[in-house]
Amino acid sequence: MKKKIITIVLLLLITASLLFACLFSNTRKSNINNIKYVFLFIGDGMSLPQVDFTEEYNNRVKGNDLDHQEQLSFTKFDTIGLRKNYSGDNYVTDSSSSASALASGKLIQNTKVNLDKDGNKTVPITYDLKQRKHMKIGIITNQSIDHATPAGFYAYCDDRNNYTKIAPQIATTNFDFFAGSHVAGYSEEFENSYKEKGYKYLSNQDEYNTITKDNKYIVVAPNNTVPYGIEQKEDDVSISKYLEMALKVVDNKDGFFLMVESGMIDTAAHNNDAKGVISEVNELDKAVNIALEFAKNHPKETLIIVTGDHETGSMSLGTFGSTYENLKDITMIIKSAENYLNNSKDSTQEKLKTIVNRFSIKEDSTTYTNLSNEMNNANGNYSKVINLLKKYEQEISGINFHADNHTGLSVPVYVYGDKNKLFTGEYTTAEFNNKLRTIIK
Ligand SMILES: [Zn+2]
Repeated sequence: MKKKIITIVLLLLITASLLFACLFSNTRKSNINNIKYVFLFIGDGMSLPQVDFTEEYNNRVKGNDLDHQEQLSFTKFDTIGLRKNYSGDNYVTDSSSSASALASGKLIQNTKVNLDKDGNKTVPITYDLKQRKHMKIGIITNQSIDHATPAGFYAYCDDRNNYTKIAPQIATTNFDFFAGSHVAGYSEEFENSYKEKGYKYLSNQDEYNTITKDNKYIVVAPNNTVPYGIEQKEDDVSISKYLEMALKVVDNKDGFFLMVESGMIDTAAHNNDAKGVISEVNELDKAVNIALEFAKNHPKETLIIVTGDHETGSMSLGTFGSTYENLKDITMIIKSAENYLNNSKDSTQEKLKTIVNRFSIKEDSTTYTNLSNEMNNANGNYSKVINLLKKYEQEISGINFHADNHTGLSVPVYVYGDKNKLFTGEYTTAEFNNKLRTIIK
């Protein structure tokens, strides 16, 4: 009798644990299998130094003390991983190789777009999601639509700079929404291809207002330029405005995949422009907030990933006594200063006044004296003035740049909606792509 009872209890226990295991695995499965809305944000040239610096700068400008630090939208995400980002032929990657690897999961050589060393195509995940899951696809950047990072998500080319070859591939994707500053490889072939494939090409606010979910779009900026964040006026386009436009088109029952690039963190870092980096990481942050708003209505079905493609500038954040907040009153990007100095018809005195104002340089400072001398001796070549401005930003903030190009530093991967923590740990770009394909089955 006793034996019988023990057997029954054991059987009951086994049944209960099997039932529990079954239920648990179903929950796990449903958590990773119901992702329908995917936002992949890429900060071009962004690794931890750019993120940390911007976050700390924002806190100091707001006067937040160390007990009340505010975070960027994405550093609050509860899953964080680290991605090694070498390319197929170098420990340091360029943007086309990195974007292609993020999209396709295969390492390729620098300057190539989705072509491996034997010339074989490495197919981006976007094509798979479009064909197999009927998801709508959107590609957004503040650089040109055929620039290296966006191209990595739709194009094949043996040279990232061959824009006339990349641009006509936009329309052959059948993807739903493209937006950027302009199309660098605009040509007759590109024009014919988008018209033939039924795309609407929009280039001003009146045209943007006509966007509906029933069409496919190629959207560019009114003056072929998306301004840097700190130089934007109310009417200007930005990646945030593009993302809002994209959601009108791609939000549907089959889901979507949106790649959104903040492309000018890289440009600023190449120029060793500390304030420029802040401006563009904050641009990324604003766009991520739009995705988070969307996720409020679809918390279980939304995946938001924020990462960089590589670090640029070998940026270091100084040591005790750094004063990032001193960059607060700078309202001009160094690249814009260069364009202004080289192209404006203003007199030398007017140019000096503009630069001094926009960079908030004190008139009794050594920088002012040096700047004034260099301006007077420039003779149409302002490279020394530009170098002085870069140095000035670094001196007043404590920030340093040790390179004017990409470095091999790993990049963080911030993930919202990854309930099974697939993206924790350290992995290669190929493994990143595998995780992405696993979570959007
Ligand atoms: Zn890049």
